[in-house]
Amino acid sequence: MPIQTINPYNNQLLKQYDELTQEQLDAKLQIAHNAYRFWKQSDIKIRKDLLLKVASLFRERKQELAKLITIEMGKLIAQSESEVEMVASVYEYYAKNAAEFLKDRPMEIEDGKAFVRLSPIGIILGVEPWNYPFNQVARLAAPNIMAGNVVAIKHASNVPQCAEMIENIFREAGAPHGVYTNLFLSGKRISKLGEDSRIAGMSLTGSEAAGSSLGESAGRNLKKSVLELGGSDAFIVLDDADIDLAVEKAYLGRFANMGQACTSAKRFIVMDAVADEFLSKLQQKIANLKVGDPLDPETQVGPLSTQDAVDKLHQQVQETVAAGATILAGGKPIDREGAFYELTILADIKPGMVAYHQELFGPVASFYRVRTEKEAVELANDTNFGLGGVVFSQDVDRAVNVASQMETGMVFINENLASRPDLPFGGVKRSGYGRELSPLGIEEFVNKKLIRIA
Ligand code: NAP
Repeated sequence: MPIQTINPYNNQLLKQYDELTQEQLDAKLQIAHNAYRFWKQSDIKIRKDLLLKVASLFRERKQELAKLITIEMGKLIAQSESEVEMVASVYEYYAKNAAEFLKDRPMEIEDGKAFVRLSPIGIILGVEPWNYPFNQVARLAAPNIMAGNVVAIKHASNVPQCAEMIENIFREAGAPHGVYTNLFLSGKRISKLGEDSRIAGMSLTGSEAAGSSLGESAGRNLKKSVLELGGSDAFIVLDDADIDLAVEKAYLGRFANMGQACTSAKRFIVMDAVADEFLSKLQQKIANLKVGDPLDPETQVGPLSTQDAVDKLHQQVQETVAAGATILAGGKPIDREGAFYELTILADIKPGMVAYHQELFGPVASFYRVRTEKEAVELANDTNFGLGGVVFSQDVDRAVNVASQMETGMVFINENLASRPDLPFGGVKRSGYGRELSPLGIEEFVNKKLIRIA
């Protein structure tokens, strides 16, 4: 079946691409494998210059690239532009800092000398989602290319133009053939790739189902893997929080990118003393927003990524409501052409209901009222996910104490969780394992080789 790109604003087909045949796939992996043989020995200065050039091309072509994101997956244009800037900063961060991160690490031992050298391992396969189509790829490509690995990327099937564009940018920046390879493949062909001896590591950002399939293949074939999966992040508001700040951040945390981020704030857990004020201000904030074309800078509510995403989200909302939850705002698709869904708030959600347990990957906030801090922590941890979370309180020590009890890979205090090049990103529990970004991100797919001198 061809890979299709459909504009979710009007559900029009933009373009289609053929999947790689087995022979084409094999040839591309062989080129990547050959490239690895010399890239692993290349001077780090060459790698640095390549990534700086990639970063500058992203910056120079910001408008064009942002538009591509918006027409393929519906992100509001200003947010697409921010994504392109973030991408440039990820490439620059690793270009500038990788030499330091990869330095030999002397061991303190009683006799002789020993050190650990971080060496590349081969082709790293990256399976990426559509929600930040350039940024998700940069997080894997930048550290690995600096480490001397080469990358082969299987991007989400609904953003093939972005996928193709990244490979073109690497070519234009002067990347040798095979250092960055785009693979047009469907998800179901990926787990077979674990058997290919040329692939040394496997990374996937996406759903639990796709992650467990890739993780299983990596495990069966004894390959290192990193999984960045879904989340159902708690947004805890303690009774001494600055409510106006919390509401402003709640709006952005839940509804930016139309709620389609793994680390979107999904469950709002608010202490009773401030719950009414928080809720009514959040309801006001989402009333009367301008719905429309995501390419129009005035638009505040754009489409979701696909019609399927709308249908899945609406089914989750309907099932939750049928089980007794209450709709406080929105709750249905917007009656117009395109993949639009109302900004929604659900309350009275109980264990056993769909919204209590599943990730809602769209603009639907789950609101919970709690009496105590302890109750807030227990509710926050009562999920199979463990990606991120945020805590709002004017008492930072109190917020840190709550953060330390949360079973997640990341907690931000008095601000929304955001991915930054210099901070590690990743989760625990069913949100996956391993870390991207920061010095930790470059250590995932390297051989930490011990060299001992008598
Ligand atoms: P998805 O269906 O899992 O797709 C993600 C990628 O996996 C796509 O490239 C997809 O290819 C591929 N894929 C699908 N089935 C596969 C399989 N059986 N084996 C190998 N690869 C497979 O995810 P989605 O629903 O589009 O994306 C949203 C999910 O990603 C959410 O759960 C979100 O929380 C998560 N996410 C996590 C992070 C993080 O850093 N933790 C970041 C962003 C998103 P096709 O498109 O060809 O199906």
